[in-house]
Amino acid sequence: DVQLSDRVQQIKPSPTLAVTNRAAELRAAGKDIIGLGAGEPDFDTPEHIKQAAIDAINKGHTKYTAVDGTPSLKKAIIEKFKNDNKLTYEANQILVSCGGKQSFFNLALALLNKGDEVIIPAPYWVSYPDMVRMAEGEPVIVETTIDSRFKITAEQLKSAITDKTRLFVINSPSNPTGVAYTKAELKAIADVLLQHPDVMIATDDMYEHIMWNEEGFNNILNVCPELYDRTIVLNGVSKAYSMTGWRIGYAGGPAKLIGAMKKIQSQSTSNPTSIAQFAAEAALAGDQECVSQMVREFKKRHDFIVSALNEIDGIECIQGDGTFYVFPSAQAIINNSSKFSNDVEFAEYLLNEAGVAVVPGSAFGSPGNMRLSFATSMDILQDAVSRIKKAVESL
Ligand code: PLP
Repeated sequence: DVQLSDRVQQIKPSPTLAVTNRAAELRAAGKDIIGLGAGEPDFDTPEHIKQAAIDAINKGHTKYTAVDGTPSLKKAIIEKFKNDNKLTYEANQILVSCGGKQSFFNLALALLNKGDEVIIPAPYWVSYPDMVRMAEGEPVIVETTIDSRFKITAEQLKSAITDKTRLFVINSPSNPTGVAYTKAELKAIADVLLQHPDVMIATDDMYEHIMWNEEGFNNILNVCPELYDRTIVLNGVSKAYSMTGWRIGYAGGPAKLIGAMKKIQSQSTSNPTSIAQFAAEAALAGDQECVSQMVREFKKRHDFIVSALNEIDGIECIQGDGTFYVFPSAQAIINNSSKFSNDVEFAEYLLNEAGVAVVPGSAFGSPGNMRLSFATSMDILQDAVSRIKKAVESL
């Protein structure tokens, strides 16, 4: 029998992928299943981006590149940070990786020692805690509820910080809630962080462009530039440009930290795929109308699904600021039914009875809720919601 490491036994496979797989299994068995579990846009990658990759192949850009990304992609990222975020970086402050996932993985490995604490507000993107564990750090989960729109307060952050806190992670707008922090909220959080100079900050801006709230996008550096030297900004092309399969993410931050992350990447994957880097450059430097088109569509679907879900007895769904997820509470239904006692069992019920796959909130550290992705057509969404309604009404 193979003896596995303690490390791998401490982590679990991504639960969002598990739901997608379970839905695929049922579908393969002939069941009519609507999948609302996926974490990716349903649109094709825009044409000019695909063409840039084809051109790259034809021009022979099919060899190793610099570990940290091609100089021209890094230049496009520097320009993007300047134009979109008013942030200035030099080339040695940028690292391009194989998706946003690898950016955070590199960060955890470069920053954490055994036992170092990382504050992660829940609900969280499923991978943060496990990546922290793989790096032998300790995830410190700070819970939120629908009453605070699933956002942590400055007071909560303050009481979670200890001598061992090494990193605070903020993801806005959030996967899985779709909710973004306001400038005022970010400022209050920044004021706490200013009192704790040893705590680093990771701002995961992956959904920056998929937003429609009035205030628009802001990260913590926009409201508190003093934190620049200890903040790492994580972003990528996966969601905004419908490029999840291309695997390009990037980070901007302190040169010393970025250099350490680059060293780790140089001994694991080396550079991200050369062709995908050319595509990402076309995405960042090209016309942004393709993004606006997708966002307009997401907004329509968001408005539909929020009001349709709220018409189901026992479901409470708040308006999101962006992303392509909603995170309704099903706690009232769970409390009132003898058929299931938690959100995982409720999600199973929906899969079996309604043929709709959603991800239970406990996968994101927030039991009682569920994540629905609306990265699918309006017709399918309408069908999904009426199936959920029927299944709930038949309880
Ligand atoms: N950060 C957040 C909040 C995400 O939701 C995701 C993807 O689900 C990522 C990072 C990583 O994206 P990728 O590795 O596909 O670029």
